[in-house]
Amino acid sequence: MIIYDLCCENDHRFEGWFRSAEDFAVQQERHFVSCPQCDSHQVRRVPSAVAIGTSAAAVPGVPSVALSGTAMMPAGKQVMALYRQLIQAVVESCEDVGPAFVEEARKMHYNEAPERPIRGDASEEECEALRDEGIEVIRLPSIKEEELN
Ligand SMILES: [Zn+2]
Repeated sequence: MIIYDLCCENDHRFEGWFRSAEDFAVQQERHFVSCPQCDSHQVRRVPSAVAIGTSAAAVPGVPSVALSGTAMMPAGKQVMALYRQLIQAVVESCEDVGPAFVEEARKMHYNEAPERPIRGDASEEECEALRDEGIEVIRLPSIKEEELN
């Protein structure tokens, strides 16, 4: 996440939040950036960018999710029910890229693939490597499909 100090043609100063420098460039080019005071799209950047963290965790949106086989502590029925709901939501809303998870997560991070929620297989080591690169992933214990129903 990057905060840019922006200035419109009428010298109104305001802040714009962008995911990256490229994100700002694209939005500016398409005139998605406008002055909150006069609505002018003639917006330019004034120096003094502040980057919030370096990790994708600071970016609002859907983190990549890795499903993999990890043991889970036995939990109470309620917890398990909630947990199943979570897994089900993940399963339904994420594209299953299977063993390509690590590769796909990297591609998304480096803007080589469209950003979207994905799930797939990744080991703890692979997840660690991704986190080291600033790619936020969540590991979930594996749950068999039949347990979801
Ligand atoms: Zn203005």
